[in-house]
Formats: sequence, structure tokens, C-alpha cells
Amino acid sequence: AVKRKGKNGVLAYAEIDHFNLEAEQAIIRELDFAIERDELRVVLQPIYDVFTRTIPKVELLTRWHSQSLGPVSPELFIPLAERSGMIVALGWWTLREGCRIARRHPGLQVCVNVSGAQLVSAGFVEGVSRLLKEEHVLPSAIALEITETFFSGGSALNEAIVSQLSEAGLDIIIDDFGIGYSNYDRLKKMPISCLKFDKTFTNSLMDSDNDQAYTKEIISSLVRLGRIAHFSVTAEGIEFPAQLSAVQGLGCQYAQGYLMARPMSPADLATLLGA
Ligand code: C2E
Ligand code: MG
Ligand code: MG
Ligand code: MG
Repeated sequence: AVKRKGKNGVLAYAEIDHFNLEAEQAIIRELDFAIERDELRVVLQPIYDVFTRTIPKVELLTRWHSQSLGPVSPELFIPLAERSGMIVALGWWTLREGCRIARRHPGLQVCVNVSGAQLVSAGFVEGVSRLLKEEHVLPSAIALEITETFFSGGSALNEAIVSQLSEAGLDIIIDDFGIGYSNYDRLKKMPISCLKFDKTFTNSLMDSDNDQAYTKEIISSLVRLGRIAHFSVTAEGIEFPAQLSAVQGLGCQYAQGYLMARPMSPADLATLLGA
């Protein structure tokens, strides 16, 4: 059922035409060994402050080059890792990597994607605090990117977890906003520091006049809401100068996309930041 295109130059295993359960099982099997075989790497994508033109944050994205399958896109292996439960181990691995990047670049905030399955796993909040202490990293150096769907179900447990993480000092970013069903009222109550709207919004800034006007209205209302509820707004998937100037004009503080920088290795990031 799954069929997706590869991106970022990563060939998606799912490009195989008759992608089936067997192939999924093979990925799940291989994924179990990915950490011990040292097949995972992190890449970092700069997030620009469009007003100061600085790089205050980076997003950490995981790459997997399987010995037997070759490179596999996260769009494919993350959902499978969630299904198999492997996401919990993978998530701890990425958080630790995130801490190492943060320690290497004081003042830089590292934004780490965390799956709902990991957030609700036993002892997650305590585990994060322990990890930060072990790695000698301040909670404010790490932001957790949590997809909108985690918030949109209205689960009290989910909301409590997010509140506890925020109280522990981590910034909470709501990721891929606009594709779930969260309402504005809930948004106001959640302790989020940043809202990242979905790439589909960025894309429709290039659409026909009507769609474009509609999208601009949504983005600027999110920016205004953010001023009242104290969260910043990030545009992701910026590929064209017109998109960057549009989001800048709408008051979005942060922008991320291939136009400015692609996800890069820790070494390339160090070069870029001059560290
Ligand atoms: P995301 O968190 O929304 O991350 C943004 C995705 O957009 C990344 O894809 C990034 O490489 C891509 N991107 C960045 N700039 C552009 C652009 O200008 N144009 C386009 N078309 N794409 C751009 P990636 O790395 O393939 O990751 C896909 C998704 O997989 C992520 O979406 C995230 O949901 C998930 N993911 C990746 N790494 C991790 C991880 O370590 N843990 C978890 N839980 N999820 C991860
Ligand atoms: Mg993200
Ligand atoms: Mg996103
Ligand atoms: Mg996404």
C-alpha cells in the first residue's frame, strides 16, 4: 500500500512497485539491528531567523543506510519503527546524538523529532531529564518536535506529558501543523514555544492567486495568535526565494528549507557555524 518517492537524494526502498508486507517485514527486521550495526547517522538542517539572518537552531533528522537494503528514507522507516516498537530505542539514540551536537555548539538549539509512541513510553519524561544530566546539556538547548496529531486527539495523557516536558525546561515545537485537527483553543492552552506549519502551506504560496491568498491568511493568523500565546512560527520546506519573502512578509520568524541549506553532516554544520 505504501508507495513514496525518495527525496534528499535518498533512494526510498518504497520505490519498488509492488511494495508489500514482505518488504515491510524485511525493513522491520533490518531496523532491529540498525543501532548495533552502526547504520544510523544524524544530519542537521539549519533553521534561519529571517530577521537577523542567523542560525539559532537546527533540526536533527535521522538517516539510515542499511547494509542489505541500502539507504532507506525516514518517511518509510519511522512509521515502521513506530509499529514495531523499535522507535523507542531509535528515539533515545537520536536524543543522545542531539545532546552531543548541542554540547559541541553552545547557544545553538537542537530540535529533535520525537514520535508519539516514544512520548507515551514508560518513564520518558524522567529519562529525558536523566539523559540531559548525563550529557551535561541544559534542557533549553534541546527542543522536541512533536507532530500536531499527538495534540489533536485531545488526550489528557498526551497533554500531561507535553506539560511535564515543558516544565522540565525543554522547548516544545508543534510540527507539521495544519494537517491534523487541533483547534485554536487547544493551541492557546498548550505550552508550545514554536509552531512549524506544514510544507503543504509553504507549497501553496506558489499556487494560483486564490489559494495563495487563503494560505497567507492562515499563516498570518498563526503569527498573530503566536504573539498573544507566546510562540514563534517556523516555515519549513522553503525552496524558492518567493516563498521566503512571502513568509518573511507575513511575520514568520524562522525559516527552513533547501533554498537556504539542506540537511548536512555534523562536520559540515561545524564548518558552516565556524565552530
Ligand atoms: P519533518 O520533521 O517534518 O522534517 C522535515 C522534512 O522535510 C525532512 O525530511 C527534511 O529533510 C525535509 N526538507 C527540508 N527542507 C526541505 C525543502 O526545502 N523541501 C522539501 N521538499 N523537503 C525539505 P526527512 O529527513 O526525509 O524526514 C521526513 C520525516 O521523517 C520528518 O518530517 C520526521 O517526521 C521524520 N523523521 C526524520 N528523522 C526522524 C527522527 O529522528 N525521529 C522521528 N521520530 N522522526 C524523524
Ligand atoms: Mg520535524
Ligand atoms: Mg515538519
Ligand atoms: Mg513532515
